Amino acid sequence: MQTRTLITVRGIVQGVGFRPFVYTLARKYKLRGRVSNDTAGVVIEVEGDPCIIERFLAGILHSPPPLAHIDAVERRDNLLPVNFPDFRIDASTSTGLPQTPISPDIATCSDCLNELFGPSDRRYRYPFINCTNCGPRFSIIEGIPFDRSQTTMRDFEMCRACRSEYENPLDRRFHAEPIACPDCGPELLLLDARGRAIPCSDPIADARELICRGAIVAIKGLGGVHLSCNALDAAVVERLRQRKFREGKPFAMMAKSVNEIAKYCNISPAEAELLSCCARPIVLLDRTPGAGIAQAVAPGLRTLGFMLPYTPVHHLLFEGLDLPLVMTSGNVSDEPICYENEDALERLGEIADYFLLNNRRIHMRTDDSVAAVRSGKTSSLRRSRGYAPMPIRTSFSFERQILACGAELKNTFCIARGEYAYLSHHIGDLKNVETLRSFTEGIEHVKRLFDLRPEVVAFDLHPQYLSTKYARELALQDNALELVGVQHHHAHIASCLADNGAEGEVIGVAMDGLGFGSDGKLWGGEFFVADFRCAERIAHLDYIPMPGGAQAVREPWRMAAVYLHRAMGSEFLNLQLPFVESLDRKTWQYLSRMMDARLNCPETSSMGRLFDAVAALINLRGSILYEAQAAIELETIAEGRIADGYEFDIDFDGVIRAEPVICAVVDDLLDGRPAPEVSASFHAAVAEVILRIALDARDGRGLNRVALSGGVFQNALLFERATLRLAEAGFEVLTHHRVPANDGGISLGQAAVANAK
Ligand code: ZN
Ligand code: ZN
Ligand code: FE
Repeated sequence: MQTRTLITVRGIVQGVGFRPFVYTLARKYKLRGRVSNDTAGVVIEVEGDPCIIERFLAGILHSPPPLAHIDAVERRDNLLPVNFPDFRIDASTSTGLPQTPISPDIATCSDCLNELFGPSDRRYRYPFINCTNCGPRFSIIEGIPFDRSQTTMRDFEMCRACRSEYENPLDRRFHAEPIACPDCGPELLLLDARGRAIPCSDPIADARELICRGAIVAIKGLGGVHLSCNALDAAVVERLRQRKFREGKPFAMMAKSVNEIAKYCNISPAEAELLSCCARPIVLLDRTPGAGIAQAVAPGLRTLGFMLPYTPVHHLLFEGLDLPLVMTSGNVSDEPICYENEDALERLGEIADYFLLNNRRIHMRTDDSVAAVRSGKTSSLRRSRGYAPMPIRTSFSFERQILACGAELKNTFCIARGEYAYLSHHIGDLKNVETLRSFTEGIEHVKRLFDLRPEVVAFDLHPQYLSTKYARELALQDNALELVGVQHHHAHIASCLADNGAEGEVIGVAMDGLGFGSDGKLWGGEFFVADFRCAERIAHLDYIPMPGGAQAVREPWRMAAVYLHRAMGSEFLNLQLPFVESLDRKTWQYLSRMMDARLNCPETSSMGRLFDAVAALINLRGSILYEAQAAIELETIAEGRIADGYEFDIDFDGVIRAEPVICAVVDDLLDGRPAPEVSASFHAAVAEVILRIALDARDGRGLNRVALSGGVFQNALLFERATLRLAEAGFEVLTHHRVPANDGGISLGQAAVANAK
């Protein structure tokens, strides 16, 4: 019996070799019919024996092309055969709404690597080799539909050989839009610091040589320009730090292979898998002490960020190179990463000694993603290259199209429609004109790519955030837009729910640096009973003034002094502690008067600030060079039996007082207890207070699910301790995986809340 079946496959199925895959499979099973792209995904019609069709369909589901991501399959069976003569690939129909997700940029695949290093291949050693399974995507797409004329590859006309591969349904490069070869594709350029071309036959070999001799080389990658140097050479790494205006943030590194990275870090099987996945994120790994990485790569930290090569240029650069290289964003302090040649030469000319650039334009800059393995599972810390613009599929449907503008630090935005939330690439800290420009341009770009027209705009309640101002301006320009303000920590909890595909009420624990509270104070140590619709605050860290506002964030010593003063009055000035003895008394007097007069002393319930205070109190660090540095260093030194925790007081109304913890830290320090143990006890205390509030909420509300969100949960020690204690008490614990716990995940939460309201 002959029958016909109509199949629609939705998900990431375009530009990833799906049609040739279906074609080959249909030929294998001797089925007749056709396959084509449409705006909903890929449409397949097959006719033949129903049993064979069944096996054909199973083959599609079980081994789709590596980059494909099938979200849903619809089928209509038992249609009358129309007697197709054979199986063929039909040209795309590009009418209606494009709904098909666009693939992120993908690391060079193993087939391409074999060709890259295969002397007989026509792309032997060609630095821009790619195919339908790998290479640039999101970063080169200018518009839709996704074909070559809508990418930056339109600058290059395909040669005859490339075109015949591009047009052959059975070729691995069938409709690989960035297809290129040495005859027709992009080329490398090696330049000196003043932008003058350096004549050479092998720019990569020369760049490698320069790096080995101690130079800093700017290298253009997939989503932007990296600054690279030998990570074992203390002098050059120090020079790089100085030239980047003494930036304090740790530098990411790249090494040839997992084995090479294992010389410097302990790598679990899960971490090796994460390093090797096709998104190739930077993975935070525990460093092996004394393994030779220059001190200035990650000063004061126990972890190192490593990634594996992900472009042919990287693979060629690491050929015969058994050194780890620094691969840090090519930018000056907080500005966005450079991605255009001219701009890179201009902005990085004082930093890099040489430039290894190329003439393939990057349309959308995308920073490297950052991830870690926590409690055996992947946890995203920055979701960008390799992931964006892949949407997050939600368990619910967005009733209307929503643009969520995110927060300020680590900004991302999110546009949601149907059951997809298009979470943007990492935009950065929205504090300057450059970043704001890439925010607004990014929104326009994503709107165009996915044909989105938001009807609702969600934003943070902080009146000074540039993202908030942007939302308000949009609403001024368009009366039909509905504005929905979403409280920062409610957005954190909602983000965690959406990340887990969960719904319904949870005990929400949101701990971070700062977020604008609904009472106008700066929150950050919050407990809620929350769902998407609302968040009822059931407990929070007691308010404490932050003398000088933002200055108190940059100078944790201020928080330590304020907490000491709160715990023991002016007596604290007599304590024989190194922190107190070295305290700048004049400035402290001045701050005291400010607090008495309530001048520029916003009140906060931030857990991040309490971490700062303890770090300063044990004399780790009085001022910081990058966000959360003191808290990160406090985590880094923690060691010893964590069981002996300190104890917070909890008032009947859910106000959590840190005074007993501060006093216990002081007592221990006076007794000569080592700082690493004090830090461990402090971490344990925070985990215990989370458990106690959760137990209360379970008793009072009958809830058994806890969601943990906010930047503080990037602290691995606290995260693991808190999740362990909660799990031991029988709680179901939701944590972040696909989306960062930090403010990079805020926009997803805002979209979910705006939808529920
Ligand atoms: Zn490939
Ligand atoms: Zn060619
Ligand atoms: Fe936050």
